[in-house]
Amino acid sequence: MILILGGTAEARSLAAALVAVDIPVTSSLAGRVANPRLPVGEVRIGGFGGADGLARWLAAQEVDAVVDATHPFAENISANAALAAPRAGVPLLRLERPGWSERPGDAWTWVADLGEAAARVPDLGRRVLLTTGRQGLAAFAAVDDAWFLVRCVDPPDPPLPAHREVLLDRGPYTVEGERALIERHGIDLVVTKDSGGRLTEAKLDVARERGLPVIVVRRPSRPDVPTEASVDAALRWARAHAG
Ligand code: NAP
Repeated sequence: MILILGGTAEARSLAAALVAVDIPVTSSLAGRVANPRLPVGEVRIGGFGGADGLARWLAAQEVDAVVDATHPFAENISANAALAAPRAGVPLLRLERPGWSERPGDAWTWVADLGEAAARVPDLGRRVLLTTGRQGLAAFAAVDDAWFLVRCVDPPDPPLPAHREVLLDRGPYTVEGERALIERHGIDLVVTKDSGGRLTEAKLDVARERGLPVIVVRRPSRPDVPTEASVDAALRWARAHAG
């Protein structure tokens, strides 16, 4: 059986591709989102209990190989996978979509983390589209001189930015939709993680077209694990390792 550590569109695509060629697959989700988009095939939900718990799970379930297709900012589960897979003697592949890169007309400020993003906000804008997700919003709680449109999938827990509106929504987003949202709220700054991929890229297209600044949080560093950027390449790897 192939275990996919999931929670991304690429993870769902890989699960569907494996099911289509009759390779047994289990997708694992953290359980963060109340109503997640479920992949096809077997699904398990919830943490494993750290690297030790994951190593035990891999051995008990006789997993042939693991594909870590979690989000580029999901640092802990990737670190756990990098420890647990060798411990259990199971091959591990990282499937990670490429990050975004600047194009002509972009006015991006790259920062190391959410704290640095929050510190840069007052210099760059007053009405902020904040799309970094439900976790870590506390970093923006002390920013007094800006208003935030906080967009996330599920209601966020406090502390939150003092001046804000929360918009519950889930991608994919279109250029037309993002343009309308940015106009309606008078947005003058976009804050995002470097998530990469097409599904949430439209805000960057609209920022470019309107000359808006964007604060982009760099991806965290990753364990040294063999990595593929495409679902097709991960599929070939998984087929080669399926028992
Ligand atoms: P994280 O900080 O890396 O993980 C925290 C803990 O959650 C892990 O130690 C693990 O618990 C559990 N966990 C995370 N992903 C899991 C999975 N796929 N299956 C089983 N347990 C998992 O993760 P996160 O940043 O909170 O993200 C959680 C999930 O949301 C990930 O699966 C990720 O792909 C998805 N996601 C994250 C982001 C983001 O910006 N961080 C964005 C979109 C989607 P145990 O130690 O108990 O095993």
